Formats: sequence, structure tokens, C-alpha cells
Amino acid sequence: MKTINDFNFENKKALIRVDFNVPLNEKFEVTDNTRIQAAKPTIIKVLEDGGSAVLMSHLGRPKGVQDEFSLRHIVDEAANVLGVQVKFVYNCVGQEAEDAVAAMEAGEVLLLENLRFHEEETKGDVGFAEQLSKLGDIYVNDAFGTAHRAHASTTVVAQFFTDSKCFGSLLAKEIQSIDKVLRSGQKPVTAVLGGSKVSSKITIIENILDAIDHLIIGGGMTYTFIKAQGGQIGDSICEDDKQELALEILRKAAEKGVQIHLPVDVVGADAFDNNANTRVVDVKAIPDGWQGLDAGPETLKNFHEVILQSKTILWNGPLGVFEMENFAKGTIALGHSIAEATENGAFSLVGGGDSVAAVKQFGFADKVSYVSTGGGAMLESLEGKTLPGIAAVEN
Ligand code: AMP
Repeated sequence: MKTINDFNFENKKALIRVDFNVPLNEKFEVTDNTRIQAAKPTIIKVLEDGGSAVLMSHLGRPKGVQDEFSLRHIVDEAANVLGVQVKFVYNCVGQEAEDAVAAMEAGEVLLLENLRFHEEETKGDVGFAEQLSKLGDIYVNDAFGTAHRAHASTTVVAQFFTDSKCFGSLLAKEIQSIDKVLRSGQKPVTAVLGGSKVSSKITIIENILDAIDHLIIGGGMTYTFIKAQGGQIGDSICEDDKQELALEILRKAAEKGVQIHLPVDVVGADAFDNNANTRVVDVKAIPDGWQGLDAGPETLKNFHEVILQSKTILWNGPLGVFEMENFAKGTIALGHSIAEATENGAFSLVGGGDSVAAVKQFGFADKVSYVSTGGGAMLESLEGKTLPGIAAVEN
């Protein structure tokens, strides 16, 4: 795997695919600059080598050219975060863009206009990618969030840089983190999968069974497993047509020597409501009219023990309906367990959608080893798919 550390960018123009798809308020101000921060190390390395950085990104889902999606809105914030002046050009290809790049000097940063103002970007058009390729000497992909898309700037453009292409430090870190969990992790390896549905996690479970020693199942997925085993789940969320699949997963896990840990007790509620009446119930004996919305105390104790003896931990999906304060305790407790294991030397990766939101919301982001920045891309990696954006740089 080639990264920016394998190149010296002195007097070179780096064409860097970043993910500056940041949220804006109604005044077009950036409300969360995490993604710009995340790209900073790569950009600074290029500048410190004595090179210049041509940045390309998408913003939102424009239909043609729409000023509200112009990347000009984020120039000031990018300059603040990077601590250098950021120039801007109102197109990402063509004469205007080529002239702006030609005028750049070492140490300068140029941001190109939104790639998706051209429909060729998402179509992965080869001619468009070739035009982009004229804007740099070395191609750097540092956008994990779009690495699962075969778009012109994330994938196709790489073919025009035979040897002069590499991963930025953010994307490299993402790849290394997934690798640590799925291939080179210190044992025991534990995966915690929560969230609402078995159906959205099934491919992940099948793919990771060979790599893990323990599988903790929590959240709404629990009840499909419990019902399949003959338990009474009351009104809890359940995918009836996935019960056979759940039993199949349990069989496969047993065959591969993976220990499965399911909740034994849950916080039952008499409505899907933060103010519902609650009581701790046996997961296999939830009365009608009640539904499990969070993990119970015995369950959390069991999970804690498994987590603390793990050396590598993957966490995807909350243990309960964490959006409601009264059902967030299980997810928070799990966060504490993973933070403690991490402090004791375990490697922990949090990735994919809602668990990332939960980890940020409850303040665990800097207490775990790595929080993935790419929701869909992380999920596809965990499913064992080869991401086109990664393959294109490796080829
Ligand atoms: P996912 O996107 O599949 O990771 O699912 C995340 C969602 O699962 C969150 O919005 C949670 O509120 C929801 N969830 C977790 N536990 C439960 C549960 N016991 N019942 C219903 N929804 C749940």
C-alpha cells in the first residue's frame, strides 16, 4: 500500500480527492468541520514537502450547477482549519481550472468547484477523469467516505497516474484499522453488532465470523434471534422472515468456534416512547404489550467481561434506542467498557452509521482507538467487498 509518506512532493502538484462534503446552515456557514480537519494532515504533508495541493471534492447532491452547493462557501473555513490561504476556481475541469493550477506556486492550496456540477463525475466518465488528471502530478485519494463509489474522481482518475498515486493519511488509517480487525488483529477479537435489523447486518456477520472469537449481538437484532430460539419477545422489533437465518448464523458461529453473546435481560417498555413505563425483564419472557428497548444490567455485566478480555474490538450499532435518553444507558455502558479495554491496550474500531453518532454524542470519540469517517464505505469493507476507490490506487 503506497501512502503519502512514500512520496516527496517537492515542486509537485498533488491532486487530492478530499471529502469536504460538510454540513452548511442557511447562511452557508460550515456547522461541522470534522471532515476538513480529517484531511489536514495529508494537505500539510504536501505543503511541508514543498509541493502544492489541488483539492477536489463533492458537496451534497446538486442537479447541475447550483450555487447553494458551491464549494466556494467553505473556502474561509478550509483556510481557518488549514492555517493557509485557500484559492478557489469556479470549475473543476477545463481551461479555467488548468490555468489556475498552472499559476500555483509551492506551498499553495487551490480548491476546485464541486465535482458533481458535472454529471460525468458520478457516472465515472473516463474523458472527465482524464481532464481531472491534468490538474496534478501525483494523485492522492484521501476520501474514505466515497471510496465505495466508482466515480471519476475517486476511482477512474487513478488510471491516468501509473505509479504516481497513493492514499492520503486518513484513507490509509481507515484501511489499516479495518485490516487490524479483520486480518491482523490480536486475539481475542470481539465484534459488537447492534442496531435495528438482522437483515442489514447479515453480510457483515457472515464475513467476519472467520476473523473473530466473540460476537456480541445487541439492539433490535436481538429479538429475531430470541424468537427463533423459542423465546417470548412481546411487542419487540422482530424480522419474522429472518428467524431461520438467525439460527443459521448461530450454527455457523458454533462450527467456527465463535462464541455468541446475546442479551439475557432487557429494559422493557410499554410503548416506543421515552416516557413509557419501564421494567427490567428476562429477554426470553417479555410480556405482550411490552418491548425491549435497551440492554439490561445482567447483560451489560456479561458484555463488559467479554469486552475487557478482548484485545481487538469492533463496534457497529447501538445496544438500544439511544436516541431516547431513557434507553441510551446500555449504549453508554458499552462505550465505557470499550474505552476501558482500550485504555488497557486493546485496539478498538467504531464504524458505520449510528454507533459513530452515539460515540460522538456520548463523548467516547477520543477514548477508542479509531472512529471511522465513512459510513457506507466502512459497512462495505466489513462486508468483505473490495472498494473501487482503494483498488484503483493499489492497481
Ligand atoms: P442500524 O442503523 O441498523 O445500526 O440501527 C440503528 C437504530 O437501531 C437506532 O436508530 C436505534 O434506535 C435502533 N434500535 C436499537 N435497539 C433497538 C430496539 N431494541 N428496538 C428498536 N430499535 C432499536
